[in-house]
Amino acid sequence: MFNERITALMEQAEQIIEGRVKQLDRLVDHNQWKVIRAFQKHKVSDYHFTGSTGYGYNDRGREVLDLVYADVFGAEAALVRPHFVSGTHTIGTALFGVLRPGDELLMITGTPYDTLHKVIGTPGDGKGSLQDWGVTYNEVALLSDGTPDYERIRAGISPDTKVIGIQRSRGYSWRPSFSVAEIGEMVRCVKDVKSDVIVFVDNCYGEFTETQEPTQVGVDLMAGSLIKNPGGGIAATGGYIAGKQQYVELAAYRLTAPGIGGEVGAMLGTTRSIYQGLFLAPHLVGQAVKGSIFAAAVFEQLGFVTHPQWNDPRTDLIQAIQFTSDRHLIAFVQGIQQAAAVDAHVVPEPWDMPGYQHPVIMAAGTFIQGGSLELSADAPIREPYIAYMQGGLTYSHCKLGVLTALNNMLEQGLL
Ligand SMILES: *Cc1c(COP(=O)(O)O)cnc(C)c1O
Repeated sequence: MFNERITALMEQAEQIIEGRVKQLDRLVDHNQWKVIRAFQKHKVSDYHFTGSTGYGYNDRGREVLDLVYADVFGAEAALVRPHFVSGTHTIGTALFGVLRPGDELLMITGTPYDTLHKVIGTPGDGKGSLQDWGVTYNEVALLSDGTPDYERIRAGISPDTKVIGIQRSRGYSWRPSFSVAEIGEMVRCVKDVKSDVIVFVDNCYGEFTETQEPTQVGVDLMAGSLIKNPGGGIAATGGYIAGKQQYVELAAYRLTAPGIGGEVGAMLGTTRSIYQGLFLAPHLVGQAVKGSIFAAAVFEQLGFVTHPQWNDPRTDLIQAIQFTSDRHLIAFVQGIQQAAAVDAHVVPEPWDMPGYQHPVIMAAGTFIQGGSLELSADAPIREPYIAYMQGGLTYSHCKLGVLTALNNMLEQGLL
């Protein structure tokens, strides 16, 4: 399939990461058990998979799904719905659920993920953003080594601070993602200053990359997308919110209406795939993380800078690779697309995406549109030429994507 040089690189990388891959198998076993146990505890059965229509009153499948998610995440309650259109919508719903005019949201892990900027908005923007509603917003930048600035976090908490925001994943920035243990440390720090703050975590991309989740170390509320990790590549849409009962309930009032909350909402035939996706998620996250480790090992052998490095601990799916020219970025992203089962005949090109200062190139040959537990890659065309890749439903597919990308680079004389 590939020439000798590429095959040799693959074999070398696989040898280097062998021990790490074994450790990951233990993690997957642990999380697989955790999920199965939650299903068993709630006696999940065939009839739970039946969908509902109309109001969806007494949809037992939906009710049990919430209980299963809550147990898996060690939370008091959860709200798992296909009605969330994206991760951003889910996170927005959680924040609007608990914040009121005059309250402050204080983000302590630096500037949040791009799509949240408009949810936070600006005062008087007329869009119904948090700040438009009179919620105030502040953020504490991370230190230059990517760790939280505890001194400024302590100083930044005021009597109005109602919600502390934490982003677990690196998102698309060159910083480490936070481990659940580090998030626990942040919780202790802020609750020490103000015991009644609500700690919220954007858990996108983090689920099942460790044995614990943020809600098990004192986080009050968290949210994520079903077209990322916990949907297991099967859930076609949706999001989840998990945490303390009272806060999840407030978020449910925001999703539907006060007084209605999570008691209503037809599942429209999505229930079985959401259950099955959760069952598959620990394994698929394991495949994707192995793929990221493999990619890091390959490109490190070739002398490129990677973040995280193959042997670093991982708490999200994202692998950043720093190349040396725009041609590398384009060859890499196009290679990922060429190895896809879906849309491999499409050649991605850099384009001026709304909201971005530089052209961006993206590879996404996915079964679920935008599904980023599936192998995908993107890169803004600018120095320092960083490509971000994530996901992969099978480890073999991740490898094929990386090797095809290498092949492109080789053919273009870039290696
Ligand atoms: C993907 C993601 C989001 C937003 O999710 P969308 O589904 O794209 O709206 C928010 N935060 C992080 C860290 C993410 O990775």
